[in-house]
Amino acid sequence: MEAEIIAVGTELLLGDILNTNAQFLARQLADLGITVLHQHVVGDNAARLEELVRTAKARSDLLVFSGGLGPTADDLTKETVARCYHDTLHFDREEMDKITSFFAKSGRTTPDNNEKQAMVPTRGKKLPNRNGTAPGVWFEDEGRYAVLLPGPPHELIPLWNEQVLPLLQPLCSGVLHSLTLKVTGPGESHLEETVGHLFRSANPTAAIYAKTCECHIRITAKAATPAEAAAMCRAKAQEFYDILGDCIYGEDDATLESAAVAALQKHHLTLATAESCTGGLVSRRITDVPGASEVFGFGFVTYANEAKEKLLGVPGEVLAAHGAVSPQTAAWMAQGARRASGADISLALTGLAGPGGGTPDKPVGLVYLAAAYQDTIYIRKLGLGGRSREVVRLRSSQNALDLARRLALGLPLPDDTQTVPAARLAEEMR
Ligand code: ATP
Ligand code: MG
Repeated sequence: MEAEIIAVGTELLLGDILNTNAQFLARQLADLGITVLHQHVVGDNAARLEELVRTAKARSDLLVFSGGLGPTADDLTKETVARCYHDTLHFDREEMDKITSFFAKSGRTTPDNNEKQAMVPTRGKKLPNRNGTAPGVWFEDEGRYAVLLPGPPHELIPLWNEQVLPLLQPLCSGVLHSLTLKVTGPGESHLEETVGHLFRSANPTAAIYAKTCECHIRITAKAATPAEAAAMCRAKAQEFYDILGDCIYGEDDATLESAAVAALQKHHLTLATAESCTGGLVSRRITDVPGASEVFGFGFVTYANEAKEKLLGVPGEVLAAHGAVSPQTAAWMAQGARRASGADISLALTGLAGPGGGTPDKPVGLVYLAAAYQDTIYIRKLGLGGRSREVVRLRSSQNALDLARRLALGLPLPDDTQTVPAARLAEEMR
């Protein structure tokens, strides 16, 4: 089955609002196994809309419309599409009563032009809208379908889920199920080498999406029933787990920060941060997760050397001898943050985010990450050169969050991790 998405609204053409409905609908159609051939945006103009609908209807089985169902005079979508699908509209008493009571509930009288919203198709179907006054509409004309949905996303999304999906599913051969694996650590080219062979299958399919700091692997299976499709995805996911193991930090909606918080919660551990070059990014990402207060109480932003000394107790001679961007400073920052907060694990970051300030010894992108946990200080040198300030900071926070996750879960640490006994910090890190 092939489809086109048509978003109606001059506001969209002018760039006043973002076409998030198209994104939602495109993903939903893909999940149904329906191929989207085109996406359109058209203003509130009957002639241009009609021209577009005739062209699209001639080549595609399904047209999905968003917007233009409101009571305003420029809302002409329903009349125009009805004509193209050889249907007519008539006044529906039941819809009108719903509209009247909708207004009555908020103590208003129904404006006259709302009667337009009570017009429903004669051969097609009305799709009741429990979050607004305009019902959705379904038209059918010799195996060609059109579905019209109200523009506001809080109306469109429930209408789609509750009314449209049950109409579309029987028209699609089989059902699709998807699952996304979230991977941090290995980059896209490394994944191609290790799990590249797993991407070359037709059902389930697996595709890789490289993000700024991580990769997502989306697995999609088509089968006769949802349970069967889900089982096929799970089996394919297992093949990835067998090779990538703990580099997969979560699935679907999981984020690295939510995985780190969950790992800390699971083992009843608390976390503190001491951040220089990331300026609080790690603590922001941690506190983005609902429930973070269970595991996180202290975040130090120590940008200046003075702050590192005063708040974290980094010795002045360590800063003078090795500089702020050094494994020694990172180690002392981690130790100081843990001492000041009483947290179980502390993370510290100090580095050069750029674009200026690099030297041959300490180039832009040089970042030291340290963690203090139990009787050990862990230190990593991250070479993040050749990237923008924003990406250096983001990757630094990514490595820090992953270190917290790994320490909390007792997972192996990257090979380049250096360790120093916490008790010997003063001797070894002077
Ligand atoms: P209404 O009854 O509110 O007039 P409608 O079906 O006529 O609904 P529009 O008038 O086109 O829809 O849009 C109403 C509002 O819905 C817009 O102001 C906007 O906030 C939101 N909206 C419309 N189209 C989209 C879209 N494609 N993506 C995201 N939001 C949208
Ligand atoms: Mg409108």
